[in-house]
Amino acid sequence: MLKLYNTLTRKKENFKPIKAGTASLYGCGPTVYWYQHIGNMRRYIFEDILRRTLLFNNLKVKHVINITDVGHLTSDADEGEDKMMKAIKREKLPPTSESLLKVARKYEDSFLDDARKLNIQSPDKWARATEHIKDMINLIKKIEKNGYTYKTKVGLIFDTSKSKDYTKLAKLKLEDMKAGSRVEVDPERKNPSDFALWITNQPKHIMQWDSPWGRGFPGWHIECSAMSSKYLGDQFDIHTGGEEHIPIHHTNEIAQSEAACGKHPWVKYWLHMRWLVLKEGKMSKSEGKVFTISELEKKGYDPLDFRYLCLLTHYRKRLLFSLESLDSAKKTYDRLKNIILELKTKKDSKKSKNTYEKDFLESVNDDLNTSKALSVLWAVLRDSKLGSKEKLELAYEFDKVLGLSLKELKEDKIPKEIKEIAEKRQKARTEKDWPTSDKLRDEISSKGYEIKDLKEGYLINKK
Ligand SMILES: [Zn+2]
Repeated sequence: MLKLYNTLTRKKENFKPIKAGTASLYGCGPTVYWYQHIGNMRRYIFEDILRRTLLFNNLKVKHVINITDVGHLTSDADEGEDKMMKAIKREKLPPTSESLLKVARKYEDSFLDDARKLNIQSPDKWARATEHIKDMINLIKKIEKNGYTYKTKVGLIFDTSKSKDYTKLAKLKLEDMKAGSRVEVDPERKNPSDFALWITNQPKHIMQWDSPWGRGFPGWHIECSAMSSKYLGDQFDIHTGGEEHIPIHHTNEIAQSEAACGKHPWVKYWLHMRWLVLKEGKMSKSEGKVFTISELEKKGYDPLDFRYLCLLTHYRKRLLFSLESLDSAKKTYDRLKNIILELKTKKDSKKSKNTYEKDFLESVNDDLNTSKALSVLWAVLRDSKLGSKEKLELAYEFDKVLGLSLKELKEDKIPKEIKEIAEKRQKARTEKDWPTSDKLRDEISSKGYEIKDLKEGYLINKK
């Protein structure tokens, strides 16, 4: 039975989907105003593991992730400058909607590239905010009709005091729910936690749409409520995000969705990933201070080295990132790949009774315990009672969840000339002619390849 830790109840619970056999899943996606750093990407790896685990449990998965390309102000509480506006200034583009979309698509593409490199499976829908303005307006109309709103100069505001148990997700006192001591931009707000559904009177904002409340643009929170209900229905199973989403963004999503559809609970299970932090103790959210996937690639890492590192830490624990920890993950992942490549060259089969499949399933089903799941994989590879064939079968099976590309793994294409030297060297080794063997190894190395001796045979890789 799959168990997931639900932020709503602060407990691990058995996962029971609303509709038997199908899991509906929504994840808050990126705001595409800048490159996503590895802390952001850890979240999509976590969501990918969740998706793969649901599939591994033979569930059908309906999965949506949004792309925020409008309306996300620099703070999560409707304050500060719009992130997209900030981006076109930085890119020195003219203040037009074309510029905004250009920036949005550029960083969306870069995000999707990183996701592919990390073996993150595509959801059924990447939903862009700018393509769902009508859905947002319709949802806001419902909320207004149900009596949860009032108007101020800023726009149409959600009255959080009308909400049933507004603080149930964050479990904070209402007075602690305001967004800290940031500048109050809307003195007409009735409660500090109230937030804008639709923002008007912002002539400098480039992207604006007509609405029953005047020309303007949506508040950030409404897009997730509108797009999730459009694709997943009024109620669905799982909603994910980062720990920073709990007190404002997700709390507001719940308040407005339950106000609109009147159904409780709107979402059954809330899963939140804790941050990746740098060794210095904090994750800098400001632009350019944290590594991106392409920066790691430039330093010679495979993006999947980073995926392996993420699998070693449970998603509800902070991941302390350093290049040393990445190096050590890379070493282990390299060793894993070499073992898999070696197994691929063998055909021996030894069936023995084992419980690995059960152990693996139990690990991932225990709130996605990926580090334990990895240890089951390593136990398989070390088990002398299993043949190569059985080891490979299990590794491929487990990799459906882990996503480490083990099945696709191939030796680098090795030129004939190098292969011939390697064969000569192998012959020298069987004749215990070590000086020749060493000489031939150096020759291979000088041509840009390295040779690794295995129990039987050898592996050649490009350096
Ligand atoms: Zn969201």
